[in-house]
Amino acid sequence: MCNVCLSRRGLFAVGMGAVAAASIASAQAQPARSAETPDAALARLMEGNARYVSGQLKERDFSANRAARTQGQAPFAAILGCADSRVAPELAFDQAPGELFIVRVAGNFVTPEGLGSLEFGAAVLGTKVIMVLGHTSCGAVNATVDALQKGNTLPGHIAGLVTAMKPGIEPIMKTTGPDLQQRAVVANVQANVRRLQTEKPILSEMVAAGKLRIVGAYYDLPTGKVIMV
Ligand SMILES: [Zn+2]
Repeated sequence: MCNVCLSRRGLFAVGMGAVAAASIASAQAQPARSAETPDAALARLMEGNARYVSGQLKERDFSANRAARTQGQAPFAAILGCADSRVAPELAFDQAPGELFIVRVAGNFVTPEGLGSLEFGAAVLGTKVIMVLGHTSCGAVNATVDALQKGNTLPGHIAGLVTAMKPGIEPIMKTTGPDLQQRAVVANVQANVRRLQTEKPILSEMVAAGKLRIVGAYYDLPTGKVIMV
């Protein structure tokens, strides 16, 4: 069981509030990087992506610091990304274990559990930036566009993806322009960024206090480049 799993269970089991969460933070988070700002965290992400795109990844020994990581974690950024097997955030941003706090679901949209995870990452572990990361040729986005155009229903629980993504994508279905599917990718990212920015009480307050930035981007499959939207 991971630290987060144990802590979340603890939070719910005994009804802990912010004070208790802070005590968990002190027990879990490593002291390093406390001075990092949201802008610096975002720059660090994008610098990592530039290394990835140019094929100049940092050499890493993944076994190094394994034992030290049992003492806690202090990821500097959180990613809300798609489950797509072709978009791996640690690789795309050239980051080591312990650097990124990642929530993934097909279509990279906010779920209650994902929101709780991102709140935990920001308020307890100290992530300074949350990036909603879509990608080109997203099957979940394409399926939603298709369902909205044809009015069809997808089987099983896959239909739930469409239901969840519909509010963010539906408005651009009424607009004209090239590449509807890619415009839907961007619209979906932007809708989920807006949602996270306004979520009370944790995320919106951290954003207002300048402790957190919530941004949107998409990963371009052919190049590997992450493009802000
Ligand atoms: Zn996708």
